[in-house]
Amino acid sequence: MSADLHLHTTFSDGTDSPETVVEAAQAAGLKTIAITDHDTLAGIGPAERRGREIGLEIIPGIELTTETAETEIHILGYFIERDNQALAAALAKIQKGREERVCQICEKLNGLGIDLSPEKVFALAGHRDAGRPHIARALIENGAVSNFKEAFNRFLGFKGPAYVSHYKLSAAEAIKLVLAVKGLPVFSHPGVSKCDDLIPELMSDGLLGLEVYYSGHNQGQTQHYRELARKYGLVVTGGSDYHGSLNGRESSLGLFTIPDELVEKLKNEHLRRN
Ligand code: AMP
Ligand code: ZN
Ligand code: FE
Ligand code: FE
Repeated sequence: MSADLHLHTTFSDGTDSPETVVEAAQAAGLKTIAITDHDTLAGIGPAERRGREIGLEIIPGIELTTETAETEIHILGYFIERDNQALAAALAKIQKGREERVCQICEKLNGLGIDLSPEKVFALAGHRDAGRPHIARALIENGAVSNFKEAFNRFLGFKGPAYVSHYKLSAAEAIKLVLAVKGLPVFSHPGVSKCDDLIPELMSDGLLGLEVYYSGHNQGQTQHYRELARKYGLVVTGGSDYHGSLNGRESSLGLFTIPDELVEKLKNEHLRRN
């Protein structure tokens, strides 16, 4: 039995409902999963309900998007308390920012001669705090591009002509927010962010873990981050970053797992601190 601690659902930019993710995880032989949607808690409850029904353990989580001048830093929060007003207010502000940004990106696309309305993106996402992957899917449906890669390369990428940022917390704020709701803050896919030099500073803000095992890390990166975690005394986590099958990513649930003992260590760390 094993675990996957990084999964997205339709409540952010995954293309499987929480129930489908839970069922697929069990079918793939997993014992424990964490739901870690971007900037929202909405998928956790439905996943927990389905998990209870079929006997799959769900760890409540979130993935908060933050950015520095050079790169994005994603902060995972595990075991967060969900009935906290400060957390709800912070997430509502981020979600509003995401909604406004969809409108701004559509305006830029319209200026580039592409016909796309925010309402189409919201409808496709099923919610208004949509992300760039939803816009990419809408562009594919429109026939403006033929795949995700083209959508990001031509329009939506960080340097693309339709890129718009949205309101985000700083990494320090995200870490402190997770700690304030008794969660464990973990630096997500550090090999993607490529800012190892910031880890000591993130630790001084309260960072407790490193996502060493990640579907997008190569062997060298995994080894490197395992050593960094040991050096800094950070808890080790891992996950696939599953987004469903319609998201332009190759990711098969159950093919990327971590052993149960890492989940136990994470739980022990959580208990020790709370
Ligand atoms: P957002 O949070 O709305 O800015 O969207 C970020 C998400 O877009 C990431 O989590 C990825 O899933 C996806 N993404 C970013 N860059 C690319 C890319 N070049 N190709 C495909 N998907 C991407
Ligand atoms: Zn995503
Ligand atoms: Fe991420
Ligand atoms: Fe993710």
